[in-house]
Formats: sequence, C-alpha cells, structure tokens
Amino acid sequence: MTRVFNFSPGPATLPEAVLRKAAEEMMDWRGSGMSVMEMSHRGKEFISIHAQAEADLRELMGIPANYKVLFMQGGAIGENAIVPMNLIGRTGSADYVITGDWSKKSIKEAKTYGKANVAASGEAGKFTSIPPRSEWKLDPNASYVHICSNETIGGVEYHWTPDTGGVPLVADMSSNILSRPIDVSKYGLIYAGAQKNMGPSGVTVVIVRDDLIGHALPITPSAFDYKQQADNDSMYNTPPTYAIYIAGLVYQHVKSLGGLAAMEAHNKAKAAVLYNYLDNSSFYSNPVAPADRSLMNVPFKLKDDALDEAFLKGAQAKGMVQLKGHRSVGGMRASIYNAMSIEGVKALVAYMQEFEKQHG
Ligand SMILES: *Cc1c(COP(=O)(O)O)cnc(C)c1O
Repeated sequence: MTRVFNFSPGPATLPEAVLRKAAEEMMDWRGSGMSVMEMSHRGKEFISIHAQAEADLRELMGIPANYKVLFMQGGAIGENAIVPMNLIGRTGSADYVITGDWSKKSIKEAKTYGKANVAASGEAGKFTSIPPRSEWKLDPNASYVHICSNETIGGVEYHWTPDTGGVPLVADMSSNILSRPIDVSKYGLIYAGAQKNMGPSGVTVVIVRDDLIGHALPITPSAFDYKQQADNDSMYNTPPTYAIYIAGLVYQHVKSLGGLAAMEAHNKAKAAVLYNYLDNSSFYSNPVAPADRSLMNVPFKLKDDALDEAFLKGAQAKGMVQLKGHRSVGGMRASIYNAMSIEGVKALVAYMQEFEKQHG
C-alpha cells in the first residue's frame, strides 16, 4: 500500500491511525456484531459513540456548559442559510465581515432571511488581508456579526478573535477548527463542516450558546431548527452516523497527540517551512499579508503560469496530489491541515526547489 501526500482542500487527508482503526472496526464494532453504518441511531451502541464524540470535542475545545454541540447535516453552505434562519429574527439584521470567497457566499445567502450588512471588506485589497477591527462598522442592534475564521480559497486567516461587544460573534470555522486552541466563550456560535480538519464530509458541527437557541424564523425547516435539534440531542432526524463516528475517532487521535496546543505547534512548524521557502524565492509567490496568512491553506503562484501543468505533473509523479489552486484564483494551493505531516510539507518544498532549479 502506498499513500500519497494529499494536499486536498477538502475532503482532505485524515490521520492514518484513524483510518486503520475504522478498517479494524468495519465489520464488527467492539463486539456488537455490526458495522457502525448498520446501527440504529437510537441503539445503545451508537448513542455511546455519539456521546463520546461530543464529550471529546467539548474537552478538546474547552466548550463551556452553556453551549450546545449539534451534529447536523447540510454542510457549511447549508449553515449559511441555517444560521440566519435561526438567529437573524432577533433583530432582523446581521453584520458580515467579508474576507474572501466563503464569507461572500455567506452574506449572499443571508440576504434571503433579513438585512445583511457589510461591516468591513477586504475586497479593495483583493482579499489579501483581514480588515483591521478599527475599520469595522458594527451595528449594535445586529443579531450577530459573522466572520469566516479561515478563508480556504484565499489563504487568509484570523490570528485574533474580534471583540464585537454585546453582539454575538458567529464564525465559519470549517477549515481551521481544531487547528489551535480558541476561547469558545468569545463566540455566540461556531460552525464547521467536518471534511477539512475533523472527519469525512456529511456532518456539520454547530456549537451554539444556549440563549441563541429558540429564535428561529417560522419558515425554518424543523430539521434545521437549532431548538428541535438541541432538544433531541441532534437526533431529531437521523444524524450522519458514520461521519460522526469517524469525527469521534479524529477527536480521540488529536487528544492522544496532546490536544489543540500540540496541533498549533505542529501547524505553525509546517506552515513556517513552506512560507519561509516562498518568501526566499523569486520563482514562487504568496500574496497574503504575513500577519494574516493561513496556517491551513497556502496558495502560491509560479513565476509563469505556463509552467503550472508541468509543476502539477511532476508533483503527481512524486506522490503529491491535489495541489491545483481553486479555479477562481489559479496557481497552486497546498492545504496542510492537522493530518498533514511535516514530512509531507518538507517533501513539497524539496520538490519546489528542484522545479525552481530546472525552470527558474
Ligand atoms: C469547504 C468550506 C465551505 C463549504 O462546505 P460545504 O460542506 O461544501 O457546505 C464553507 N466554508 C468554508 C470556510 C469552507 O472551507
């Protein structure tokens, strides 16, 4: 068996130990005689898997008791509608900070459900930096302030938590959740699709403060009403059971590695290898302001985009895949989530050096 270094932005590489454990337990989960896929979500086996996953996520992120953890479906794009459906009815408006493609999508969707204001935007600078907090125009009457904590396409990440006063902060953390410790109490709501940093696609984690539950617009489908889900332990409808199981194995794995502080050290070390090389090369470039660079998604361009195809082909031949940049920005993108090893990043940089020597 050969495994590639998979730089996919998502669904993304998973820890080998997790995949091995899932393979081991595939036919018979811990003496139950069933695969997790075959279990009733109401049975004691799955209820224990679900409870353990929630407990481990609470422990890893230090989630306070006055927050619910929901395992939902619909992905982060689904949450772009589900969040305003549940939250915007409190005052009728919300503030959005626009830092790239994903936050642009979020505000566009929100406009269907209420008044969504642009509080700040990095568009004038082509989304290469996060607008400083001092420039945000926040409405104290907004139901919430929405940010995307890591723009997966542009490679721009918040390395600070905005203070939004009494207005709840909502964050799309799809591509940097579990990458470092955060203070959950500074957020009203956090949502994240699992398929970047914590599992397979199919499950969306929503961490929501109790007082924000119970304000859904009357049009909200019951399966997407946080109150219905919270009152039913995320089992109002059948949850994505297998995806929750794998996410649970990822949580156990991250715990065994030392938790989120260890992830942060690992992620900083990996990103430094790549950014240091990019900054010392005149052949490759990354446009993002150093203070706002993502530790998870590193977009870069070659000096001449006519070389892109040769670069990708050569990478593939060396077992490095999914490096093509998003179609909206072109160039390359290396996604280096928790499960990417430092060896993978070093192999990429060695290849980039070799390619630069040949074509620079
Ligand atoms: C991947 C991603 C999404 C989209 O997730 P879906 O599962 O396709 O809904 C949204 N926001 C961010 C920040 C992402 O990285």
